[in-house]
Amino acid sequence: MNRKYRKTVIAGNWKMNMLPSAVKPFMEELKGYLPKTRVCDVVLCAPAIMVPALIKAGKDCKIAAGAQDVSKYEKGAYTGEISASQLADAGAKYCIVGHSERRQYHGECDMLVNAKARALLEKGVAPIICVGESLEQREMDLTMEYVAYQVKAALSGIDASQLRRCIIAYEPIWAIGTGKTATAEQAQEVCEGIRAVIRRIYGARPARAVSILYGGSMNAKNAAELLAMPDIDGGLIGGASLKPADFAAIIAASNQE
Ligand code: PEP
Repeated sequence: MNRKYRKTVIAGNWKMNMLPSAVKPFMEELKGYLPKTRVCDVVLCAPAIMVPALIKAGKDCKIAAGAQDVSKYEKGAYTGEISASQLADAGAKYCIVGHSERRQYHGECDMLVNAKARALLEKGVAPIICVGESLEQREMDLTMEYVAYQVKAALSGIDASQLRRCIIAYEPIWAIGTGKTATAEQAQEVCEGIRAVIRRIYGARPARAVSILYGGSMNAKNAAELLAMPDIDGGLIGGASLKPADFAAIIAASNQE
């Protein structure tokens, strides 16, 4: 982390877990574990239907609400879709785009991820843009080329003032939900590479200011080591964000200097 230039963000991704009625008890329990002081921004990304409950329950402990997906369309006849303006109006401050599960199970391509990120920025919702390589790509030594391509595609047409509201999450697919974490060195290498890609597009200052998160089996035990890396500015956390004590421990780990 480098808090001199950029904010630290700890974001939970509940995926398709939890019920709206479970949000309040979850938050009550989480509050009991939260460290007294905190230097990071905390967000929980839930299915959109839970955003109002998250806002209500998270208000007094300053936990922001985020969604997990958005339509690329602004409005109209798109049954089942949820637009960026609907998320913004409901109070969502963040929204994940390009999560590998959406890429894998819903065929989302880099162009669509870019369109979704732009739709969110138009409405003032911060996109958490996920990128990351498969195990095959890592074994073929294609990690940085592939991730650089994903980052460039996702940021296409986004100007430097909009970039300030973007968060990048590096999530190696082989580490998501598998219990296999990238080593702190592996994660740092790619996050540093992502910052270099952004520097080439936007210049040194904007690149220095972008928060880049690591995601992939981050937990209460490994968080401190990952977050100590200079280019890892927080975490996107799946499984461990469903357990109040574990999520709070990760938030506490981000307090380190
Ligand atoms: C994720 O879904 O973004 C994620 C990182 O999941 P997990 O922490 O469970 O690997």
